[in-house]
Amino acid sequence: MNRIRLILLVVSAFSASVIFAAGGVVNSPTGAAPQRYVYYPGTEELAKDEIRLIACGTGLPAARRDQAATCYLVEVGNGDKFLFDVGTGSMANVAALMIPYDFLDKVFLTHLHTDHWGDFSTLWAGGWTAGRTKPLRVWGPSGQTPDMGTAYAIEHFLKAYNWDAKTRDFVLSAQPGKVIVKEFDYKAVNAVVYQENGVTIRSIPAIHAGDGPVSFILEYAGLKIVIGGDTFPNKWFIQYATGADVVIHETFLTPTDLVKLYGQSPQQAIGVGTQIHTSPPAFGKVMSTIKPRHAIGYHFFNEQATHDHILQGVRSTYSGPLSLAVDNMVWNITKDRIIERMIVSPDQAWGVNGPNKPPAPPAPGTVPDPISDFIKAGRWQPAEVAQAPMVDQFKKDHNMK
Ligand SMILES: [Zn+2]
Ligand SMILES: [Zn+2]
Repeated sequence: MNRIRLILLVVSAFSASVIFAAGGVVNSPTGAAPQRYVYYPGTEELAKDEIRLIACGTGLPAARRDQAATCYLVEVGNGDKFLFDVGTGSMANVAALMIPYDFLDKVFLTHLHTDHWGDFSTLWAGGWTAGRTKPLRVWGPSGQTPDMGTAYAIEHFLKAYNWDAKTRDFVLSAQPGKVIVKEFDYKAVNAVVYQENGVTIRSIPAIHAGDGPVSFILEYAGLKIVIGGDTFPNKWFIQYATGADVVIHETFLTPTDLVKLYGQSPQQAIGVGTQIHTSPPAFGKVMSTIKPRHAIGYHFFNEQATHDHILQGVRSTYSGPLSLAVDNMVWNITKDRIIERMIVSPDQAWGVNGPNKPPAPPAPGTVPDPISDFIKAGRWQPAEVAQAPMVDQFKKDHNMK
């Protein structure tokens, strides 16, 4: 145990469950600095009984550069990783964690609004080109009718991206471009939707915009994390999130800010902010009722003014441990402590290979060539001549014919 961990444990004995990692003492002008306030991805091992929870998207359907739409990554001590929603823009934050794409093959969707799966295309195609060796696995709810369910959405997603898939199939293995869907009943209450390697994930219904949305409950090593999707406060959440260590629940912009900042009409704002979503005082009431070790609110553009308005609303009904999430917040969770930090990650991250070798590209002639002779005949030969020395050198370097 390093010095900083020891300090944290001592501090945690005297304070609320959440403590902020503090800097240590620098004893030498030439030595390494002790652990700081931040998490550098890929530099810390996860203990067997530990969960690392990362907010990769906390915003709204409209794009904002510093806040992607909903996405949480849960990493558990057995090595398994789970994406809960991949909202628009969130994959840039996921990619900056520099986790091999093979480890990011399990996706759980709370519902099918774009701010919760808009970047599925980026995970699908980006991961395919950057090292994933196997199909994606997707778990998501059914709908009132088949065309409102996850299986329909993925089937037609793949149809919409047919050109993308067919053109990649010619040069890459088709395997990582496949998607395996496990659709489950959105009305099922606390039903197990996933159970492997000591991880259990359950689903409860949510009340949001139309039938179909759900929230998820993940249990591992005696720890319980609730990942709330969009919902008005509901009885299932109150019943089954009780006793959880960390509870994520949406808390939406106040109706006043929806009018002032999001350009909504008062009629729209009061409906969206208090009926389809959860208002800050209602979020606080949920948390003061279920009393988690730590509560996380998200799903609003988090800046000074909105933060203060939401905090005021939440604190009118809840006084416990709380984060109002922004992108790249990380929580390390064990039975003894919950540490919240910010992530420092590169803006220019590359894909990182995992232990599995990339599958071989298709043998010549096995996949239809997506480029016709008419288009091929338009190739401008001086370009080939210009690049010939570079191509020859590369082939020599790699023992290619
Ligand atoms: Zn939604
Ligand atoms: Zn949403």
